[in-house]
Amino acid sequence: MSEVKEDCFQGDDEMLPFLKGLEILHQSTHRVVGTETVSLPKALGRIVAEDILAPLNVPSHNNSAVDGYGVAFADLNKDAPTRLPVTARIAAGHPLDRPTTAGEAVQIFTGGAVPNGIDTVFMQEDVTRDGDDVLLPPGLKLGANCRLAGEDVKENDVIIRAGSVLRAQEIGLAASVGLGRLLVFRPLRVAVFSTGDEIVDPVYDGANAVGDGQGTIYDVNRYSIAALLRGLGCEVTDLGVLQDKVAEIRSALHDAAAGHDLILTSGGVSMGEEDHITRVVESLGSIAFWRLAIKPGRPMAFGKIVDTAFIGLPGNPVAAMVIFMHVARPLILNLSGRIDFDVPAYQVPAGFSFEKKKGRREWLRAWLETDDLGQMRVVNFPRQGSGLLTSMVAASGLVELTEEVESVKPGDLVSFLSFRDMTQ
Ligand code: AMP
Ligand code: MG
Repeated sequence: MSEVKEDCFQGDDEMLPFLKGLEILHQSTHRVVGTETVSLPKALGRIVAEDILAPLNVPSHNNSAVDGYGVAFADLNKDAPTRLPVTARIAAGHPLDRPTTAGEAVQIFTGGAVPNGIDTVFMQEDVTRDGDDVLLPPGLKLGANCRLAGEDVKENDVIIRAGSVLRAQEIGLAASVGLGRLLVFRPLRVAVFSTGDEIVDPVYDGANAVGDGQGTIYDVNRYSIAALLRGLGCEVTDLGVLQDKVAEIRSALHDAAAGHDLILTSGGVSMGEEDHITRVVESLGSIAFWRLAIKPGRPMAFGKIVDTAFIGLPGNPVAAMVIFMHVARPLILNLSGRIDFDVPAYQVPAGFSFEKKKGRREWLRAWLETDDLGQMRVVNFPRQGSGLLTSMVAASGLVELTEEVESVKPGDLVSFLSFRDMTQ
């Protein structure tokens, strides 16, 4: 048997545990963005900057949940039908200008204001109209089909917490209380670089086409990482590809620090002679940690350039994306003022076997499927090489295997993290 191990995964003893790394990240970052006001049509995905209080009740008035007939419950016979005269017609937006008195029934439509005196509404299909009267069957409960003022939102309730991201439903809720503009955090400004003499731009640099014997490859990371950043609501500046030259890297990173809240690079963070990022960042600011006990993904760097946060992602495209989701995302959301950014771990039976090294955390590209009996299970992409971008495309998430796990057998419950939850 060969003595050559999976060489790039040796030396785990000196590695920083993943959760410890996250804790350091959390402690060393805080919100850096100021606030601005946006109108509701522009609010999707933005982060609310203050607790939002309801200025009024929703609904603001008692109203009918159905098309039908409103009555006073006290007028109804308990065990026999009741006949009442229909004295008014109330459509939505056209309230009755008086309270009702005993013995009246009103025809009322969905959303119509329930007048004082009425407390119960019969559905149209359940009654018989007879000329000017309506015949009402027994058995309906007090309050049926009435929506009460304030039953959804009470005046002065906190309806959206500071730090929450605005989804369609939060935007709808703000609209329901008449708030057309909201105070939000301004987007995090992020500069993105790729690094490496071999990296060629696929879009603008057609002249340097890959495959011409120069040993070049097309840049993946600047595009995938910029897309991930935009998904988190960041404002992205694409600063291109840096050659593996200390002076060039140093001046580009230094310049980017002004005007950005975060600088993200990929590649160049290993121990190799051509990996200059870590040393350069150290000389311009500080490096907080750079070797995490995780797979895929190490090495990576986290630090500061002057006063701007810095993350150096691995060069490997899969590793860069996975590390982005697990390490960069919480840091970015922290800088952006978000609360509540935990990713739910769904417990799902494994549809695969897997052997793993103890002491490091691993994420397997995986997806959910349903077996013949309708039971859900999670299966992994057969090849987990971290250069295989097709595995990310095939997958809909990651199976997370924590440090103590050494093997997975079919049927074992494993944690499945959805890409959807890790990219917003
Ligand atoms: P490095 O950490 O710079 O040694 O890069 C690790 C691996 O990822 C190498 O095979 C690089 O060619 C590759 N790589 C680095 N940056 C990129 C990029 N932006 N797009 C695609 N592959 C990259
Ligand atoms: Mg490189």
